[in-house]
Amino acid sequence: MRKIQMVDLKGQYSQIKDVVNPSIQEVIDTASFINGSKVHEFQKNLEQYLAVKHVIPCANGTDALQIAMMSLGLKPGDEVITADFTFAATVEVIALLNLTPVLVDVNPDDFNINIEAIKKAITPKTKAIVPVHLFGQCANMEAIMEIANKHNLFVIEDNAQAIGAAYTYNNGKKAKAGTIGHVSSTSFFPSKNLGCYGDGGAIFTNDDDLAHTIRGIVNHGMYRRYHHDVVGVNSRLDSIQAAVLDAKLPHLDAYNKARQDAAKKYNKAFSGIDAITTPKVLNGCTDICDTCDCHVFHQYTLKVAGVDRDALVKHLNENDIPCGVYYPIPLHKQKAYQDSRYNEADFTVTNELVKNVISLPMHTELDDEQIEYITSTLINFING
Ligand SMILES: *Cc1c(COP(=O)(O)O)cnc(C)c1O
Repeated sequence: MRKIQMVDLKGQYSQIKDVVNPSIQEVIDTASFINGSKVHEFQKNLEQYLAVKHVIPCANGTDALQIAMMSLGLKPGDEVITADFTFAATVEVIALLNLTPVLVDVNPDDFNINIEAIKKAITPKTKAIVPVHLFGQCANMEAIMEIANKHNLFVIEDNAQAIGAAYTYNNGKKAKAGTIGHVSSTSFFPSKNLGCYGDGGAIFTNDDDLAHTIRGIVNHGMYRRYHHDVVGVNSRLDSIQAAVLDAKLPHLDAYNKARQDAAKKYNKAFSGIDAITTPKVLNGCTDICDTCDCHVFHQYTLKVAGVDRDALVKHLNENDIPCGVYYPIPLHKQKAYQDSRYNEADFTVTNELVKNVISLPMHTELDDEQIEYITSTLINFING
């Protein structure tokens, strides 16, 4: 059996080497390392893929979030509501901009931000909501946009984990993750569903004015050379990373399909095991169907019940099965983000999830033998 990895980037690279290598070489040959034509080509291709008016590439997903937030003209002390159960980058940029993060609980089934909790957290100071499409599945965007419209709030989608996923509205209409809110961010970190070979990120919006503002912010606040109209940053996707991404973009749907296939096999092996809850696909689907884009499985995350999760992690690792706990501590309990206004009773779901979740190896190169070994090792542990 091939060695099991949490993410198998080498295996994926070997399949696309013949396209990626000459594309990188071309950047080197032309020495157009910054803002080269590859960046522009990738930007156009991604706009077309997502059916979004503007993609603005930048240096990483954290910058993308920060820049998206900078573009909205928020003021220090404005409150921004986001999920308690996510990667710290989401809350970090809110705090860095001197905005006030307001963390709220998530749903126990899809791990995404809870609609009732958002409603409860709204105050006159609330200015924005940041839903995170966690593990590859969209948050309930229809309800979030409704709340936002009612209270005149911005919606910034953190789409670092769900590129290529679609959101299905109640009337059956679909839209790609990251194209629904006022502005969205994504990450091209190597292990993300569309990853480059270093750092990269992008901001998406359908709003022409916001797009213009953002294009200035990423470039030192310049809209005319050496005229700095706003405080900006330096955040660029470099041409070599754009070349890698442009070579991989045509494969993104197939990559996501490979993840779904692995998820289906996991689901099948775990069906009927009472101690395991497999990931719920909501958002228009009841299961992972053959044409499904409701969930792109950035992570395949189980909940275990009546099982010592940490002992299970140790057992899998001892059997050469890497796994992850995303996330082991709720953000509201992190030293940097504690707030005396929080009440533990409002975080019952995240407080429980951090004890029960476990993410299994998930990538485009998992084979049947590996999945069989992972699932049987896990089931044997649970059955004692
Ligand atoms: C990865 C990730 C980010 C940050 O992306 P980087 O490119 O690593 O800066 C932000 N939010 C979420 C939810 C992520 O998973």
